[in-house]
Amino acid sequence: MQANMEVRVFHGKRTGPTIFVSAAIHGDEIIGTEIIRRVMKKLHPGRMSGTVIFVPVVNMFGFITHSRYLPDRRDLNRSFPGTEKGSLASQLANIFSTEIIDHCSLGIDIHSAAQHRYNLPQIRIASGNPELRELALEFGPPVVIEAELRPGSLRALAREAGVDMLLMEAGEALRFDEFSVLTGVNGILRVLKKLGMIDTKRLGKRGVPPAQATRTVWLRSTRGGICRMISPSGSKVHKGDMVACISDIFGDGEEAILSPVDGIVIGHSNLPVVNQGDALLHIAEVRIFDTVGERLEKIEDAITSNQLLDEDEVI
Ligand SMILES: [Zn+2]
Repeated sequence: MQANMEVRVFHGKRTGPTIFVSAAIHGDEIIGTEIIRRVMKKLHPGRMSGTVIFVPVVNMFGFITHSRYLPDRRDLNRSFPGTEKGSLASQLANIFSTEIIDHCSLGIDIHSAAQHRYNLPQIRIASGNPELRELALEFGPPVVIEAELRPGSLRALAREAGVDMLLMEAGEALRFDEFSVLTGVNGILRVLKKLGMIDTKRLGKRGVPPAQATRTVWLRSTRGGICRMISPSGSKVHKGDMVACISDIFGDGEEAILSPVDGIVIGHSNLPVVNQGDALLHIAEVRIFDTVGERLEKIEDAITSNQLLDEDEVI
């Protein structure tokens, strides 16, 4: 096998920015493949300004084998910028860098949680970029998280190349869930509109702004046994709340897992059988905590009630 990548380019009638939307850099994180399919059905180049490069599956090798990695177990998202004659991961990273990123001013890269885990739909951005923050808020997910970038990641490379990146995390590996898909379709169309690439009044208002966070914490299992998840993704939790409870197989020896912060659960494990040290929950510490529960509900309503997104209709 050799490194190649299938893309579809929507080249608008009028001039405008060039952006990319990519999915399945981790081959088993396939939610973005469905999001891209639905976004493409909504667009027509004759009504667009600028260009969108769609890459529904960046890591086709992992996609086919239901695996996060390349066949040699390398992680594509730690292989950027890559080289022409390196490992398969390095070659794919190089193709993505030179053929796609170098031509764009913005990228939207879509991931999901790992297998047996779920992530509340969220946008992650590099910290300290007010214009990018505006776009992330316009995307309209439940939560926007600003954080430092991982070396070797697509986002780190993109920043060096002067390309802004929105990273979407949503749902579970190897699964499609409607809320994650709708959040993605809605958000991408909204960003395109904000950039002046599509002009439609039919997207509706964004509604309340997403919750914002700059710090997240992982909660790990304090013992092996059976875990009862009390606060799954999307739950609002207070500092000191019991968010999960672990016991032995008879229900004895219960140990409570408590939230160390006021925040929103942005990811959780779906596996009830746990080992000591397993990551159970991921919580974002949020600002303006008091109104967060109500806002999450409103955001969810706005995303799921947008009838336009149910139709196979060009906007
Ligand atoms: Zn990923």
